[in-house]
Formats: sequence, structure tokens, C-alpha cells
Amino acid sequence: MSEVRRAGSSPDADLVVLGGGPGGYVAALHAARAGLDVVLVEESALGGVCLNEGCIPSKALIHAAEVVAGHGTQSTWFDNLAAAGGGPDVASIRSWQDDIVGRLRAGVAQLLDGAGVTVLSGQGSLDGPGQIVVTGTDAREVTAPQQIIATGSAGIGLEVLPLDGQRVVGSAAALHPPADTGAVVVVGGGYIGLEFASAYTDLGWQVTVVERLDRLLPTMDERLARAVHQDLTSRGVTVRCGTTVTGDDGTAVGISDSEGTDTLEADLVIVAVGRAPRSGGLGLDTVGVETDERGFITVDPSRRTTGTGIYAIGDVTAGPALAHAAMAAGRVAALVAAGLDRTYEPAAVPAVVYTRPELATVGLTPKEAEARGIPVEVHAVGLSANARSLTLGAAGGTAQIVVATGRGLLLGAQLAGPGVGEIIGTLALAIEMGATVEDLAVTVLPHPSISEVLTEVSLAALGDPRHGRR
Ligand code: FAD
Repeated sequence: MSEVRRAGSSPDADLVVLGGGPGGYVAALHAARAGLDVVLVEESALGGVCLNEGCIPSKALIHAAEVVAGHGTQSTWFDNLAAAGGGPDVASIRSWQDDIVGRLRAGVAQLLDGAGVTVLSGQGSLDGPGQIVVTGTDAREVTAPQQIIATGSAGIGLEVLPLDGQRVVGSAAALHPPADTGAVVVVGGGYIGLEFASAYTDLGWQVTVVERLDRLLPTMDERLARAVHQDLTSRGVTVRCGTTVTGDDGTAVGISDSEGTDTLEADLVIVAVGRAPRSGGLGLDTVGVETDERGFITVDPSRRTTGTGIYAIGDVTAGPALAHAAMAAGRVAALVAAGLDRTYEPAAVPAVVYTRPELATVGLTPKEAEARGIPVEVHAVGLSANARSLTLGAAGGTAQIVVATGRGLLLGAQLAGPGVGEIIGTLALAIEMGATVEDLAVTVLPHPSISEVLTEVSLAALGDPRHGRR
């Protein structure tokens, strides 16, 4: 785009992308490389939630906390992380997080610049077909026949537990722990809450997790939930499932469960009870873009919304709210906008929880298969005899596969153990390629490695275990 003009006879650009998170910036890059003149509007920071207050700083915190607790890889950078005689050196952790985020954000800006994408800083909304209004630093009107909405999601709160940004915080503030350790209540036993619970306990906090439903990770397989529950409790974390938060008096959180009511003293409260799509205030009604009852923008497999020339991707649409899903859908939307015939219909999207043990899942769980009426066999093996796991001094784990009865088609897998996030991709590829359990069993995997558990579990499924008994 040579310049952004006020709305006139010819459009200012071919495509406007609203939101510069992993979905939006990746879409902008692919669209520009496909020859479109692209404007990207971002109201906060390039990289979105994932890079600035989600995936990246949280994993940096988790790693730093593991080092403080005596796990993880030491390096010179980390030498001072456990301050002599005191709590963790939170200033060093913060600068470690900021350094990584800063480098990656600069990389995104450079890529966009190199691809010729015009980045506008401000809040964008739609004001009729082809009309985009930007308010803020780069306020202006932009015309473009196509738009991709990638405005993401925001954390939701609890009415009984309003955030004050100091003692009661959401996930963004929780990324930067206070210098003094104390008692922390983590409200929400989903993956975000559990990653914080794991990191904070490593940093020396007394952690209590409160979950309304009767188990942790309610959307994941029970086997994985049990693995992380056991680990957290063995590290001194109190886990209260089936427990509802009723209020907070400034020093203690009120809770109730089947036994009655109680209070939990808390120096810090982290609220991680879910996220909601950011589809409000975008002018969707001016362009005929529909949302479902939960506010997610509805799309077809090509990421087309009900508005002409308008696509939507990432957390603002239904589906796994994960950065890699947003990026993959972003590429599809960009290529469709560029005139190509593409759909986003992955056979399975993996998810990783960065606790100890690490958890990784892809495809159907046994329960999901049952709910869909698909007859399956479920096979599981432990990692306690896995040679690589032992050489790492790790404490076991588990690998489970879900296989279609009769056909042997691999439908899903759930893993718990060291580094399983790095091997779940193998299973995502297998499911995407329509692999059978036999395909998995004949794939030669390196020794010693955690990935060998895939050979063990697939051979066990074929009734011919390598190390286990028949
Ligand atoms: P976002 O990343 O939310 O980006 C949307 C962008 O749009 C934002 O930058 C926002 O400022 C901008 N925006 C919104 N409205 C407007 C507007 N009107 N005009 C202009 N700009 C606008 N996912 C993983 O895959 N792995 C993880 O390990 C992981 N860890 C997480 C940890 C935490 C603590 C959290 C909170 C999330 C985590 N996630 C993780 C989820 C991941 O961050 C999201 O799935 C991902 O960021 C979604 O990408 P997106 O592009 O759809 O939206």
C-alpha cells in the first residue's frame, strides 16, 4: 500500500487485518507474500496475548521457576535466580521474560516490514462494507474490500472476586510474581491456572488451587488430570476440586463445597477461570457478521464469516483457543483472501500443558470417542521403565492411544512425561496422515528417547509388546 488515504473511490488496500496476535500477524504475512496490499491494525502490542502476556512469558516464568526449585537447565543467566537466603530474584526473572518477548516482538515487526505490511497502531472497527475506522495513535479511515478479524480473547472474571491488579489479579499480572512469597490461591484448575500453580510452588509460594468442577483439567483426559494432580499435591500444593469461590474480604477468599463453607488466607489471588472472544465493539452488525450465543464469530472452513469479504481466525472464533490453531487458520484466511481455494480442517490440534510432568494431548480422548459413538480401543503404558526418562531423573509418566476398533486408525493420544510436548507433533502428523497403529509400531524411533514410548504403546496395542508382558 503506497499510502493510507481517507475513504475514496479506489480502496486504500486489498486487505485489512484487525489484530496483530499470532493469528493476525501470520495472516498478514501470508497475504502480503501472496501479493496483497495489506494493512494490519493493532491496538496494543504486536504478537498479541500469546507473545506479550500468554504463551511466551508464562513459559519463561515456568522455566525460571523450575531452575529456582533445582530443576531445569542452569546457565550463567540464571545464577542469581534463587537470591541468597531470600525468595526468588523476581527482577532477574522479569528481565529474562522481557528480553525474550522483546526479541520476538522486534522479529515480528521486522517480518511485517519486510513483507511490506503497513502496521497501524490503534483500535480498528468496521463501519460498513469495506470501511475500517482506526482510532488511537494512527487514527484514520481505511478502505479495503476484504478484512480478517483476529481480535482474540480476553480473560473473564468472577463477580464475587473483582480484580484489583495488586492482590487479586488475572493471568497477565500473575506472570510477574511479587518479590515476597506467601500464600497464593489460584482460582481455576484449567491449564493456565495449573501452569501458574506449578511455577508459583517452585518459587516458594504456598499454593492452593480451587476448581469448581470435580477434577482438574476438566476438558482433558482423566489420566492426564490425575498425573498433574498427584504431582502438584506431592509438591505441597493443596487442590480443592468441587469448590466454589464465594467472595473475598481483602485477606481471605471465601469458598464453599459439599462439606460447607471455609476461608483461605491469601496474599495473592490469581483468577484463571477462562477467556471470552473479543467480538464486541467491532461494528460487526454494520457488515452482517454473525456471532454465536457465546460471542464467537461464526465461520465456514475457509474462515469466511457471514459478511462479504470478511474472514475470522483465532480466539475470536470457536475451537481450541491456542496460538498454533490461530496461526494455521490465519494462513488459510490469507490465502483464501488472495483468491486460492483453501480450508482449515485439521484432523487434530495438539495441546500441551507445561506442568511437571508435562502433558500433551491430540485428537480424541476415550470419552470424546464414546460421546461421538465411535467404538475405540484404548491402550496405555507407563514411562517408569523408559530409559531416557530414567537418565533424566524424571519421575515416570504415561502414554495412552485411542484407536478405532477394527480399522486400527489412530484417533487420539494423551501423554504425560518429560518433554512430551516435543513428541506430540509426531502423533498430530500421524493422525493428519490417517496412520494406523501398525504404522506407528513400524516407525523406528531413536533410543534412548521419550518418543520410544510410542513404539511401546503401539506394539502393546498390537498384542506384541516389546518390553511389557503380553
Ligand atoms: P490474540 O493473541 O488475543 O491477539 C489479538 C490481538 O488483537 C491483540 O494484540 C489485541 O490487542 C488486538 N485487538 C483486539 N481488538 C482490536 C481492535 N479492535 N483493533 C486492533 N487490535 C485489536 N496458547 C498456546 O498455543 N500455547 C500456550 O502455551 C499458551 N499459553 C497461554 C498462557 C496464558 C497465560 C494465556 C492467557 C494464553 C495462553 N495461550 C497459549 C493462548 C494463546 O495466547 C491464544 O490462543 C492466542 O494468543 C490467540 O491468538 P489470536 O491471534 O487469536 O489473538
